[in-house]
Amino acid sequence: MLLNCFKAYDVRGQVPSELNEDVAYRIGRAYAEVVEPRTVVVGCDIRLTSPALKQALSNGLRDAGVDVTDIGVCGTEQIYHATFAKGFDGGIVVTASHNPKDYNGMKFVREQSKPISGDTGLLDIKALAEANNFPAVDQQKKRGSLQLLDVEPEYVEHLLTYVDVSKLQPLKIVVNAGNGGAGRVIDLLEPHLPFEFIKIQHEPDGHFPNGVPNPLLVENRAPTIAAIEKHQADLGIAWDGDFDRCFLFDANARFIEGYYIVGMLAQAFLAKHDGGARIVHDPRLTWNTVDIVESNGGVAVQSKTGHAFIKERMRKEDAVYGGEMSAHHYFKDFAYCDSGMIPWLLVAALISEQGVSLAEQVDARIEAFPVSGEINRRIDDPAAVLTSVEQHYAAAAKTVEHVDGLSMEFEQWRFNLRMSNTEPVVRLNVESRADYSLMESKRDELLALMS
Ligand SMILES: [Zn+2]
Repeated sequence: MLLNCFKAYDVRGQVPSELNEDVAYRIGRAYAEVVEPRTVVVGCDIRLTSPALKQALSNGLRDAGVDVTDIGVCGTEQIYHATFAKGFDGGIVVTASHNPKDYNGMKFVREQSKPISGDTGLLDIKALAEANNFPAVDQQKKRGSLQLLDVEPEYVEHLLTYVDVSKLQPLKIVVNAGNGGAGRVIDLLEPHLPFEFIKIQHEPDGHFPNGVPNPLLVENRAPTIAAIEKHQADLGIAWDGDFDRCFLFDANARFIEGYYIVGMLAQAFLAKHDGGARIVHDPRLTWNTVDIVESNGGVAVQSKTGHAFIKERMRKEDAVYGGEMSAHHYFKDFAYCDSGMIPWLLVAALISEQGVSLAEQVDARIEAFPVSGEINRRIDDPAAVLTSVEQHYAAAAKTVEHVDGLSMEFEQWRFNLRMSNTEPVVRLNVESRADYSLMESKRDELLALMS
């Protein structure tokens, strides 16, 4: 039986047709054979099908002799945290992030919360789960144990280490959990922080009465925007369902592109570190990040897009922080994993300590490096388009890179054009040096070339 629920980085599929308790059990058995852990921590998001899938997964692990610790309902980053903070040999969270309610999935890590993806074990897990040829459970040999563990207090304590609470101002902050899991963490943080939280779509609800928990959908931004305006808030935050990504709005209720948040967080980390600290970023948009990192005494390191690549590069470079424009932010002190809580805490600390609003901080950067936003185009032959675009600009380009798709730099503008792994789509990002109309005209020129 082929299992279509295995993707490049994780498991995701419709329940029950692609992912069900039988498949979850097999994945538990297969993970145990591939990773060979003694102990694994499991948890699940707030989806209605998550507890049953988590139990089947745990049964598979235990039948393979693995001791399972269950931390209950959690966000993806809480499994990362439990795995590294408690020294488990591996961790698995049952979650489908921002997908519709009839979906579910799993994300896997090994010891120290190192990612497991296609070339680092996921394909082996898939093959074993598909073959479903596991040895009978040896009743003589002891089956793995199951215990429950509450690591939430330790997780909250860890989150608070990223800010100096005594320097925080009583900001008014709109928080929109999208009826996913972020609300619970906000409630746990609240007694420790001077902020006034305005909570919308706060209660976890796997029926997703306000739509799928995906803040990138324009229709999902409206309630956050309305609440910021109504309450004259200083900041708005929206999370996806498993809150490994957070999306920020300024006091003008303007959605802030993730690219500019990467620059802000890089600056925050460089302020705390001696010169030479390393910051990893993706190749799609780079100039703002590189400019901030270099002018603050750091070293900018470009990595291929994708969490497994960024984490690996950060480990290799001993980088303090890594950021992707897609709202994935990675932290050395968080075992190089991504968090949707640490970024907004750092931004709130920056606003508090510098007395400069998010809007003002970002405005200067938007002006210095205006961007197109990521533009997706469905085309018949993406590879041919990349080749012809490269030929078109080859003579004029200062640099050409193929770290991730095609990046070309000119004196006053640059772009990245890359293919989707899964569909006949190309994704374009254009930026310029302080010249909005140049960015627009080059964006339109590229779009015309592609059509
Ligand atoms: Zn997510």
